[in-house]
Amino acid sequence: MKILVVEDEPKTGNYLRQGLSEAAFVVDLVRDGNDGLHAAITEGYDLIVLDVMLPGRDGWSVLRTLREAGVGTPVLFLTARDGVEDRVKGLELGADDYLVKPFAFSELLARVRTLLRRGKTKEPEVLRIADMELDPSRRRVMRSGKRIDLTAKEFALLELLLRRHDEVLPRSLIASQVWDMNFDSDTNVIEVAVRRLRAKIDDGFEPKLIQTVRGMGYVLETPATA
Ligand code: CA
Repeated sequence: MKILVVEDEPKTGNYLRQGLSEAAFVVDLVRDGNDGLHAAITEGYDLIVLDVMLPGRDGWSVLRTLREAGVGTPVLFLTARDGVEDRVKGLELGADDYLVKPFAFSELLARVRTLLRRGKTKEPEVLRIADMELDPSRRRVMRSGKRIDLTAKEFALLELLLRRHDEVLPRSLIASQVWDMNFDSDTNVIEVAVRRLRAKIDDGFEPKLIQTVRGMGYVLETPATA
């Protein structure tokens, strides 16, 4: 189990690193909010212990940015103030638990173990390919940071293509999954829908993600770079 500790206070940071290492966790310690955010996004941690007051970027901002990026790693907040507002703010932003400083290490260890048992069940599922992301629970699609408005059918079509990206999906399968209908060779409803979807998610963007596989169907993929 790998834990990221983001804490600028050398004494607390070292104490946490040592204690958690002794409890058989692999621990990375960073002392700056930006470094913490970067590590949390690029490395796969099982848990993040996050201080609120940090140089570079505060703990709130780290947490908010992580959750917006779809990173659902459990976060245990360390707050120096026993303010109800702080706790509420942390939990609203998606923290899983908090601990008020000063705390006993045994208390922290108990919280850490509880959170790890609970795991990433709260992880918001966001589907991604290249610079596009689709958030099923928020019904939101972004490409290159721009929000793209889709109709319900276009959204369902894109979600299907994304869930099974790199796989050629026959028109009959798309018809049954998205339109709940059996394939009728006379209808061009799928071609029309794919054309509209392309216009929204591929026009003006690179690379083009929806590929037509002649005689077979469609596939959503990142084209091999030359
Ligand atoms: Ca601090």
